[in-house]
Amino acid sequence: MIPSILPTYNRAPLAFIKGEGSWLIEADGRRFLDLGAGIAVNVLGHANPDLTAALSEQAGQLWHTSNLYHIPQQTALADKLVEATFADTVFFTNSGTEAAELAIKMARKYWYEKGQPERVKIIACEGSFHGRSAGGIAAAGSEKMTKGFGPLLPGFVHVPFADIDAIAAQMDDTTAAVMIEPVLGEGGIIPIPDADLKALREHCDEHGVLLILDEVQCGVGRTGKLFAHQWAGITPDIMMVAKGIGGGFPLGAVLATENAASGMGAGTHGSTYGGNPLACAVGNAVMDIVANDEFLAEVNRKSGLFRQKLEGLITGHPDIFESVRGSGLMLGIKCKVANMDVVNAGYDNDLLTVPAADNVVRILPPLNITDTEINDAVARLDAAASQVSKGLKL
Ligand SMILES: *Cc1c(COP(=O)(O)O)cnc(C)c1O
Repeated sequence: MIPSILPTYNRAPLAFIKGEGSWLIEADGRRFLDLGAGIAVNVLGHANPDLTAALSEQAGQLWHTSNLYHIPQQTALADKLVEATFADTVFFTNSGTEAAELAIKMARKYWYEKGQPERVKIIACEGSFHGRSAGGIAAAGSEKMTKGFGPLLPGFVHVPFADIDAIAAQMDDTTAAVMIEPVLGEGGIIPIPDADLKALREHCDEHGVLLILDEVQCGVGRTGKLFAHQWAGITPDIMMVAKGIGGGFPLGAVLATENAASGMGAGTHGSTYGGNPLACAVGNAVMDIVANDEFLAEVNRKSGLFRQKLEGLITGHPDIFESVRGSGLMLGIKCKVANMDVVNAGYDNDLLTVPAADNVVRILPPLNITDTEINDAVARLDAAASQVSKGLKL
């Protein structure tokens, strides 16, 4: 019999009733150190007092009005994002995949309004992830996500991830945009080198192609800059944001330059919930804390500490781990054994990690994880690895 929850997930046999900072707690009081943060969502940990206060205060005032009216919290958050980034304008969504939908629509509408309606092609990468909407799965293109759901939204071509020459070779006078993750997330935590991102920007400029960056996972302080592309000193035309921006409250956004957004007038797009007062109250509180040089410097310092400890862990378990990669507190450990064996052994040691493709275990802790918790996390990974090793020898 089908369960009451549509069985689209293979869930771990864990259920949490409370969160405190970097910790998740089960009903029996068992405490897990959370290096997954709801898949890069809980950037300030669980039950953060500032976010809780912002949410509760707003909950007592006004939850939802629709976008038929002005929403002051939304304007305030858009102003903050515009102030802190390349963007001139922002549309709020409830998720990353809705941000992908708008990014696709915006890029195509741009060329339509420029009198080049034939420019619909979007170049994307194999192994990428842009969400589970019909547009998102067509954009990512992998058979794992698309099989059985055809016919897919046409107009996408796929090249190997971050192969800049292959992307450039696809650019022609029917190309609308390139859509790419600056740090590949679900696909296995692979940062695009700064020089390659710069080269990509140059190719886009040369061919007049719009650059859409998907920073749903790598954005909002995750890599130690507010947005990952800032490391390369380039700017996109359109950027998708979600996950961390709401700190756990469903919120996403599309940021764009005035030029890229020029086709999107009244009536061209909408969302009932997108950017409602509750979501934006939390989003503002997240931005007030994360969009801060001292906060980001701490993310970078902790990233250095975590990485150094993980290098040591790998040296100690050459049978289990191959290498560490990533950026900031978006780290991946490439495994020699099945990554799920490490994730499962983590559960046994009260530690939560997240698997990714390419046999990687993802480390995506709250950005305000403490040094003590980092040491504790590596000790638990060490115990988990020893447990997997023992299993190998049996
Ligand atoms: C998670 C993710 C998405 C989809 O976000 P949802 O909120 O799950 O729709 C899109 N792009 C990237 C890079 C992601 O990591």
